[in-house]
Amino acid sequence: MAGEPQPDCLFCKIVAGEIPATVVRKTERVLAFRDIAPKAPLHVLVIPHVHYPNAAELAAAEPEIAGELLAEAGAVARDEGVEDYRLIFNTGAGAGQTIFHAHVHVLGGKPMTESMV
Ligand code: AMP
Ligand code: ZN
Repeated sequence: MAGEPQPDCLFCKIVAGEIPATVVRKTERVLAFRDIAPKAPLHVLVIPHVHYPNAAELAAAEPEIAGELLAEAGAVARDEGVEDYRLIFNTGAGAGQTIFHAHVHVLGGKPMTESMV
C-alpha cells in the first residue's frame, strides 16, 4: 500500500526508532531531525512518517501531510530563532537526492544570498 514503511529505507528506520537521530520536532505525522552532515549552522531534515519517494509524490497522495511538512519546516526555523532560511527538496539522483524517502532540508544560520534560480 502507498505510504507503507520500506525495509531498506534509512528514514523509515529513523521514524521507527531503529536508527538514532537528533530529533528537534515530532508530530503524529511528521518528524524533524538534524542532518548528520550539516551544510549550515541550521540544517534539519523534515520528513513524513509515511514513505513516499519524494515530496511531490507525497503531496499528490497525501496533501495534508505535505502541508504539515512545510508548516513544521517553518516551525523548526522559528524554534531555532532563524528568520531567513532555505527549503530544499532534491528530487532524483541527478538533482542530488540520495535518500528516496520524501524530505525537505531546512538550511539557515548563515548568509545564503547566492541564488540557484
Ligand atoms: P538528499 O541528498 O536530499 O537525499 O538528502 C539526504 C540527507 O540525509 C543528506 O544531507 C545526508 O547528510 C542526510 N543523512 C544521511 N544519513 C543520515 C542520518 N543517519 N541521520 C541524519 N541525516 C542523515
Ligand atoms: Zn522510507
